[in-house]
Amino acid sequence: MENLMTAKIINGKEIAAQVRAELKSEIQELKEKTGVTPGLTVVLVGENPASLVYVRNKIKACEEVGINSVQHKLPETTTHEELLGLIRQLNASKEVHGILVQLPLPKQINEEEILEEISPSKDVDGFHPYNVGRLMIGNPVLQPCTPYGVMRLLESTGVDLSGKDAVVVGRSNIVGKPMAMMLLKRNATVTVCHSKTKDLIERVKKADILVAAIGRAEFIKGEWVKEGAVVIDVGMNRTMEGKLVGDVDFEGASMRASFITPVPGGVGPMTIAMLLKNTVVAASRAK
Ligand code: NDP
Repeated sequence: MENLMTAKIINGKEIAAQVRAELKSEIQELKEKTGVTPGLTVVLVGENPASLVYVRNKIKACEEVGINSVQHKLPETTTHEELLGLIRQLNASKEVHGILVQLPLPKQINEEEILEEISPSKDVDGFHPYNVGRLMIGNPVLQPCTPYGVMRLLESTGVDLSGKDAVVVGRSNIVGKPMAMMLLKRNATVTVCHSKTKDLIERVKKADILVAAIGRAEFIKGEWVKEGAVVIDVGMNRTMEGKLVGDVDFEGASMRASFITPVPGGVGPMTIAMLLKNTVVAASRAK
């Protein structure tokens, strides 16, 4: 069959490697100038197998760029007060520039309260209401890693976002909402869609920039994609056959889009790269 694919692939693996290389030299420079080595502490409560893998990957990435990483592995039975105590201790430590509490947390722990306890200046996930507020007023400091990574991917295309119609499908606090704020800051006209949106297909069809963060395998069909659109697929879904696919029908969409991210190898690798970036930002700002 003739290959009808016209879209250029946005190579997240390659761009994440570029980000890490930039960070490596920034870290070196920071060390030489100030004697400070950025430090990230990852807190893991319980034995969630996916969380164990994520944490391992984060620690490995830290080592690669020269960030000191420390892991606190707490038992599943950890109480809310015990975890609060650890966070307060980490907030006070001069060696710790970034604190990441791996989610989800066990039921006895109030996730929201824990995230709010993390010092905003060490909140490398960008989930603290202070950092969310900074993003909202257009003056961000530490930004949520996944949408931050998407912005870097968009930048790599050279497409000017100003005045473009951007449609974000999904409104979670970790992806959809911060994504919308970041696109707005770059002067896109942003529409946020969700499960109650009435005319989703019509809205998607108008998108010059389409970001899918839904969590449903190949939900966005190729024919919904506007000719020449830039398509960013945040979704990570396992099919019945165990294949990893995004929220967009990649094959169909790539016949119409100008640029598209693959799954895997698109947004995924960027998330950890931006976590490292946030840690370096936090360390450079530390007093
Ligand atoms: P959530 O489940 O928190 O949010 C999903 C959003 O999609 C919700 O806002 C929901 O709407 C909306 N939605 C669900 N069904 C529909 C529908 N039929 N039509 C329109 N909108 C719909 O997911 P996350 O934001 O955490 O993650 C989204 C996806 O991105 C997942 O596949 C996740 O695995 C992936 N992900 C990937 C990351 C990476 O590093 N690559 C990082 C984070 C997430 P409503 O609010 O109305 O319920």
